[in-house]
Amino acid sequence: MDFSDFNLNKPLLQAVEELGYTTPTAIQEQVFAPIMAGKDLLGISQTGSGKTMAYLLPIIRLWKFSPKRTPDTIIIVPTRELVVQVCEEFEKLAKYTSMKIAGAYGGTNIKTQMATIAEGADVVVATSGRMVDLILNRTIQASQIKRVVIDEVDELLKLGFRAEITQIKDLLPSKRQTLMFSATMNAEVDALAMLSTHTPVKIETSTSGKPVEQIQHFYYTVKNTHTKINLIRHLLKTDTSMQKVLVFGGGKRMADLLHAELSFDFPDEVAVIHGNKNQNTRLRTLDDFESGACRILIATDLLARGIDVTDITHILHIDVPDIPESYIHRSGRTGRAGQSGISIVLSSENEMPLLNQIIEQTQIRITPLAFPDEVEISDIFLPDETMKGGMKIIQVKQKKVPEKGAAFHEKKTRTKKFLSSLPEKINNGYDLENYSEPNMVVWEKVKRRNKKNPQFPGDFFSNQHNQYFTNETTLCFSIPPKHN
Ligand code: ADP
Ligand code: MG
Repeated sequence: MDFSDFNLNKPLLQAVEELGYTTPTAIQEQVFAPIMAGKDLLGISQTGSGKTMAYLLPIIRLWKFSPKRTPDTIIIVPTRELVVQVCEEFEKLAKYTSMKIAGAYGGTNIKTQMATIAEGADVVVATSGRMVDLILNRTIQASQIKRVVIDEVDELLKLGFRAEITQIKDLLPSKRQTLMFSATMNAEVDALAMLSTHTPVKIETSTSGKPVEQIQHFYYTVKNTHTKINLIRHLLKTDTSMQKVLVFGGGKRMADLLHAELSFDFPDEVAVIHGNKNQNTRLRTLDDFESGACRILIATDLLARGIDVTDITHILHIDVPDIPESYIHRSGRTGRAGQSGISIVLSSENEMPLLNQIIEQTQIRITPLAFPDEVEISDIFLPDETMKGGMKIIQVKQKKVPEKGAAFHEKKTRTKKFLSSLPEKINNGYDLENYSEPNMVVWEKVKRRNKKNPQFPGDFFSNQHNQYFTNETTLCFSIPPKHN
């Protein structure tokens, strides 16, 4: 089957042709007719299988010019990046029609977005919160909405946007078409789909011949995060096939740490993207990665979700995701639209059970690789790695402080006493996070300060020596994981 077998009109056929697409993907092929027929639908297919075009094609095909130009279709997505991507894909497909799309997301001026929509948009794509605002302030007239698309339903649910989706559904007229798309199927997605006005047709594309199967999966067993960083550095230096590399850097702080480390070796080649970066920076970073101006992109799970960058050669996972679905999403960033790609997981001993769970549940073959001899193995463990494992203090130092009043001294003595008791406490395995001694304020203060200013390197810990700093003291320790 090819696109000419679809009931497409000239403007659409020409646009598709210019994009260089000849064959529809399985999901595109299977949802076209039911959407055209006005059915409600739940479409499930893997990441990278072309779901965006699967709903945009029939939506554009169904469009009829009307002088009123109020939106009759809304598309809800989980992230700002996806808003931008859906708009871009739409612009390409609707190039030869006069149909208009407007994108909106939170954190930017809603007035500008309202004005754009008021100027005449046929379709509005927005994150769920912003969509609620636009409906409540009547920029989008709920009564005019004929069709709603909820893309990445699984992700929206995971991020806790259920209430907003339900609210939007309640605001819309009951006579409407509801289209939902998801990369994964679970009970919650199913339950939400049942909230559509009509029982949806469920279309799940089969596992065979999916682009994702073009991906080869490997893993290394690595001692700790610092060694993982050494290994990543080594791979990026020696493996010349690593042309466009997306690194999953764990949380924001880990992503920043990795970025700081790699920037020394690969200046101008590495960038980082996460929720603390502003929207413009995020979009520019993505552009640089797409164009090849930057070779290595470090991202957090949430941000990576919206990344549809062509020709990513490698995915590196600095940690093992705790749910198998995340692994599929992460590795699905490569091998898109039939291309090949490589996914490499760096797993510590502690993470092996998680990795095994992924292998078991996804049935993906992830092949072990031998740890390269040339790579230095570090003995330094990060605080995060330690919480899970056994603990051992190497050294506790205290900095000299200038003389101050009596109250200060009393406090200082207390702090000092507390800190000097820390090694023993930690050696006895007590949990820093749940400790409630008054002097724990010192610890809390450090954590709070770091939270406000999460930029790395902060005063919370140093990547070099694994030190904790406060104004008054320097705590220096390294904590190896528990060996069972
Ligand atoms: P999903 O939403 O399922 O994760 P996307 O809609 O983001 O996937 O599409 C993944 C990539 O595949 C995009 O770059 C898109 O342009 C491309 N693509 C979509 N449909 C086709 C097709 N029929 N042929 C070739 N490439 C396609
Ligand atoms: Mg998608």
